[in-house]
Amino acid sequence: MAVTTLTLDGALISAREGQTILHAARDAGVRIPTLCDLDGLTPVGACRLCLVEVDGRLVPSCVTRAAEGMEVSTATDRLREYRRMILELLFAERNHVCSVCVANGDCELQDLAMELGVDHVRYEYLDPPCEVDASHDRYGLDHNRCILCTRCVRVCDEIEGAHTWDVAGRGTRSRVITDLHQPWGESGTCTSCGKCVMACPTGALFHRGSSVAENIHDRERLHDLVTAREEGRWGV
Ligand code: SF4
Ligand code: SF4
Repeated sequence: MAVTTLTLDGALISAREGQTILHAARDAGVRIPTLCDLDGLTPVGACRLCLVEVDGRLVPSCVTRAAEGMEVSTATDRLREYRRMILELLFAERNHVCSVCVANGDCELQDLAMELGVDHVRYEYLDPPCEVDASHDRYGLDHNRCILCTRCVRVCDEIEGAHTWDVAGRGTRSRVITDLHQPWGESGTCTSCGKCVMACPTGALFHRGSSVAENIHDRERLHDLVTAREEGRWGV
């Protein structure tokens, strides 16, 4: 297999042919923050948190392939400022009230905010009216917490094969929807497997009956499902 050599934060590293900068960095032990990325799902470059500088240009590392001789920086002051700005905009766009959220303490958005020192938001909150869909027997959807990472869309399509989720609308009016925008509980395609709930980085998708800080996303199980398919453990 062809190997590419590049510079990451001043150190020479190697990447496999076709590997993205994000995965090459992970293999080299360098963590780049992400929200829309989930191992085993097609990368979409939606959240832009994984921006890195390549020869001075800003590129999303999850969808940019490592190339011979690249000079990549993953943690400059400029990147830290942009990542902070992205998080603040995510908080401003919906209604994230961690203290009353089922995912408080198990939320990737909250974790990143703490890591990047986001203790206030410099932008005006949009305070959009957002619905909660509690029509499904086992799970719920709270649009207040959704960051449109589309992990639910991709895991349902690519791992479960149901393609229940999609995104409707544009800009700040975009919303994840089930089937043709009917209530989740009336979906004819949902198998109630729970993979979307496991994949969701925030409290947008939750187990019904969980109260504040009780919702646990079991990503280990999801990782096992993804790798089982990649390794052909089920003969698929
Ligand atoms: S529970 Fe399973 S089938 Fe239903 S929407 Fe979520 S991932 Fe898709
Ligand atoms: S519901 Fe969760 S997984 Fe789906 S787009 Fe929103 S934040 Fe992402």
